[in-house]
Amino acid sequence: MKQIILTGDRPTGRLHVGHYVGSLKERVRLQNEGRYDEIYIMIADAQALTDNAEHPEKVRKNILNVALDYLACGLDPEKCTFLIQSMVPELTELTFYYMNLVTVSRVQRNPTVKSEIQQRNFEASVPVGFFCYPISQAADITAFRATAVPVGEDQLPMLEQCREIVRSFNRVYGETLIEPEVVLPKNQACLRLPGIDGREKMGKSLGNCIYLSERPEDIKTKVMSMYTDPTHLRREDPGHTKDNPVFIYLEAFCRPEHFAEFLPEYSGLDELKAHYERGGLGDVTVKKFLNHVLQTELRPIHPAARKRGKPPPPPSATCATP
Ligand code: ATP
Ligand code: MG
Repeated sequence: MKQIILTGDRPTGRLHVGHYVGSLKERVRLQNEGRYDEIYIMIADAQALTDNAEHPEKVRKNILNVALDYLACGLDPEKCTFLIQSMVPELTELTFYYMNLVTVSRVQRNPTVKSEIQQRNFEASVPVGFFCYPISQAADITAFRATAVPVGEDQLPMLEQCREIVRSFNRVYGETLIEPEVVLPKNQACLRLPGIDGREKMGKSLGNCIYLSERPEDIKTKVMSMYTDPTHLRREDPGHTKDNPVFIYLEAFCRPEHFAEFLPEYSGLDELKAHYERGGLGDVTVKKFLNHVLQTELRPIHPAARKRGKPPPPPSATCATP
């Protein structure tokens, strides 16, 4: 059986560091590993419209922005096929047929749909298209006969729902569709990177992101204003590292070399965490270190923009309107 990857992103804004550690880095690794026969990377514009019906221009503009971020991260069009969802109308047709294989109550139980409805304050006004997007995602995955789908943790319930649709379809119509496997990042911290505001997920539609295309000085401003442990009021107070986004970002991004270069008084992350937890280590020191780590890791993604100090894209392109 051919080994095929299908994955993608909604063009609701520029891509952020959560995408990078949660999915993009893994895609680049899989692309270069050469184990897959075909790799499809979808810019899911039709899906993005399900909660942006009033902002078609935003979706249209971000199709190119997302494609640029793909290239900047090292996704190679010689090795992967990039595609725009709305340009394959058969996907919508397939979604229509799959709708008959799913109940309303099953979608209502999907934890990601539930939390996204809450985040967007939809309550009873949830658009039918948005409610059905797990079904359209199943159409995308199965139409390309994908065997593997590299995603962040928030997409696990979507993949489970897709696998159920595959089983129902095969039961009724005979063995036709392939049940895809999910590919999650191995590093626990990368499964669902929190927002800089401390919310549990960094998300384009939540306005709490550090974007891959961000200027160095803006990255620094965002890092220095990040939410940390609210009980760590003074430097000498004992602090918490577990749900502290600054430490979660360090888990996701920092490597031993970063300590040698930027914080040589510590042997590694465990020692830094231990110091923070017992008290005596200020947030500013940790944030400054995180800023150095992020600048180093993101530099190869936009070297030209960084060197020339290009002006940032207009806020409407970087911050998705809620
Ligand atoms: P939106 O808020 O518009 O839904 P998003 O930031 O959630 O945007 P998506 O385009 O929905 O981004 O997600 C694309 C991929 O990136 C998915 O595989 C998703 O799991 C992954 N991803 C998104 N946000 C994060 C995050 N904070 N941490 C890890 N992976 C993430
Ligand atoms: Mg999302």
